[in-house]
Amino acid sequence: DGPDATLKAITTRGISKQFGTGADRVMALDNVSVEINENEFFTLLGPSGCGKTTLLRLIAGFETPTSGDIDLYGDSIGHLPPYKRPVNTVFQSYALFPHMTVAENISFGLEMLGKPATEIADTTERMLQLVQMQSMRDRRTSQISGGQQQRVALARALAPHPRVLLLDEPLSALDFKLRKEMQLELKRLQSETGITFVFVTHDQEEALTMSDRIAVMNEGRIRQTGTPREIYDHPGERFVADFIGDSNFLRAQVINRQNDTAELELAGNFRLLVSADPADNRDAVNVVIRPEHALLGGPHQAGLPGNLQQVVYSGTDTRYHVALASGESFVVRRQNSPDAPPMPAEGDAVSVLLNPASLQVLDD
Ligand code: ATP
Repeated sequence: DGPDATLKAITTRGISKQFGTGADRVMALDNVSVEINENEFFTLLGPSGCGKTTLLRLIAGFETPTSGDIDLYGDSIGHLPPYKRPVNTVFQSYALFPHMTVAENISFGLEMLGKPATEIADTTERMLQLVQMQSMRDRRTSQISGGQQQRVALARALAPHPRVLLLDEPLSALDFKLRKEMQLELKRLQSETGITFVFVTHDQEEALTMSDRIAVMNEGRIRQTGTPREIYDHPGERFVADFIGDSNFLRAQVINRQNDTAELELAGNFRLLVSADPADNRDAVNVVIRPEHALLGGPHQAGLPGNLQQVVYSGTDTRYHVALASGESFVVRRQNSPDAPPMPAEGDAVSVLLNPASLQVLDD
């Protein structure tokens, strides 16, 4: 079953966290309110220092908020020490016990909880299967690879069946290929166990690949929350558009407004109608266009006139860097394929062709 939006696993209400005082004061989190659904793969995404880890540590109970409240399943958990919260954490450094075997690492936490021996054996077996490590059960964790250690760390964290699993950049130590594999594996583990995952990353592609929903953070605040598609296709502001995926930003004059449409004029007197918020009364707006949502045409086609400055081939696709007549720059990306029609060359006059659906008006 997918996420259940009627049941909130975690609710934070106006959480702020300040470190230090006076000149050393850091506002790591500033009035953060977020709702994470039961059974959801929820990702906190943002640049280094934006407060992701701090929010995770507050949920886990390793830090206390300066102000605000956190509920787990409708109950405030502010007063509960970490070990009494139905939450487990997987850290960036897996922190496995090197002198113990794979199986012992997984069963250790269950033993600490005083579970009966048969239950420990059963659960450990199930966890070994879940992360496909049965054949390595008796190896010491110092004798297995990074990806295998990652699997053991996950199995260990999942074994007590926490209601919520917090994951702090757990894939960052892995190489590119293994990372891609583990992304899919984590997604599978989440849907098989039905445990709510709160995942922290600064890698936008990772967030888009794995998440049911993403909260994009910057400077201690949540800037936008939505599904990967909502965030990518409809970024509300420049920071989000810029942080997730490649973007072209253009300035547009609003020539005319009628109910929920606006006529925009972009560089080179190119006009088009877009849907717009009827309450918006700005004379000029910023718009964002993804490089793969624009096409390159000949110089006399209806589009933004410019000159093709640079063609950059990168295997799967090619990027065409255009200097627009307005002085703005624009990148068009096209997927490479053997039967693609011929494209203009560096130095050619071109136009950038846009359709209204490719263009998103930003709030800021
Ligand atoms: P990264 O991706 O680099 O781990 P992050 O988004 O997880 O970054 P946090 O670790 O939450 O960011 O840090 C948020 C801000 O709070 C940063 O400016 C950081 O320097 C500061 N900070 C975090 N922990 C402490 C602390 N214990 N004492 C003082 N400042 C801290």
